[in-house]
Amino acid sequence: MADRHQWTEEGAYQVAPGVHRIPLPLPFDGLRAVNVYAIEAADGLVLIDSGWALAEARAQLERSLAAIGGSLADVRRFLVTHLHRDHYTQALALRSLFGARVALGEEERHSIELMLGPAYTPLGAQRARLVSAGAAALARELAEMVGQEPVNAGYERPDEWITAGQKFDLGTRTLEAISTPGHTRGHVVFADTAAGLLFGGDHVLPHITPSIGFEEAPRLLPLGDYLASLNVIMRLPDLTLLPAHGPAGGSTHGRVGELLAHHDQRLAAMAAVLAGGERTAYQVAGALPWTSRQRRLAELDWMNQMLAICETSYHLDLLVARSLAASRLADGVRLYRPASPAAAAKPGRPA
Ligand SMILES: [Zn+2]
Repeated sequence: MADRHQWTEEGAYQVAPGVHRIPLPLPFDGLRAVNVYAIEAADGLVLIDSGWALAEARAQLERSLAAIGGSLADVRRFLVTHLHRDHYTQALALRSLFGARVALGEEERHSIELMLGPAYTPLGAQRARLVSAGAAALARELAEMVGQEPVNAGYERPDEWITAGQKFDLGTRTLEAISTPGHTRGHVVFADTAAGLLFGGDHVLPHITPSIGFEEAPRLLPLGDYLASLNVIMRLPDLTLLPAHGPAGGSTHGRVGELLAHHDQRLAAMAAVLAGGERTAYQVAGALPWTSRQRRLAELDWMNQMLAICETSYHLDLLVARSLAASRLADGVRLYRPASPAAAAKPGRPA
């Protein structure tokens, strides 16, 4: 196993007194593993995130908790950073068996209600985005792929909706839920500033840049939300990063600085592509390198192509919102172009 993936090895790793990082497997996923954090509380264990509801992940969680003298029945509460299945669904499965309470950010309600509603169209927002991005063929492929597997399988409402700024007194420490929309609109991180810790979920990841707005009910400018949420972390003290994917222990300010610089660079690269003439988001995505390996868009699997094209459209929409680009709809496809100097002089003017 390469050093880069050492963090995925099974175990319970103490990252602070009374706080244990427990990686759980994600067998179908390029992310490889998700970190759950078990916190010793006055009346048992509190888990930050839960893993994906898979038998293998549950068995590994059980073994890892046993290694610190605990069990699944000791888990009193799950504090979940966001609704993605690798973070949320195992909490729901274990709740039905052991009765732990599950808490999730209140802004996730929009997507959850869509998923549980009678007229649910899996990944409807992404499919619509792909069509307006000029990637209708990929939208059809996505519809076929999600038709084979119920995307909302195992989804239920939480016991509790977490509000921005809500404090959780665990008896041993206090966590503050901080609203960090972007990765999803209801994403929250949990800060223990007294101990210098940030449970960052997927908001701040050490090795990769989180996907943006991959959810059933994204807000209008998910990238704008995400960048604002990165600045929220900058305004906290510099904390030790406990991420959902990747090794624990980095500096939150250090990594957030890198992520802000990354998005500045991507926005500039996209503006440079538009200088060549009017383009769809699909065309702009095709002109840029992807992942840390600088892959071409067409080399990515359909899932990552979908994420890349949607993310490009969110970047382009942010350029428009900043009056650095303009756009128009033609036959349901959005075309982006550089802003005219007159438009750039009037910030906030709608395209
Ligand atoms: Zn996620």
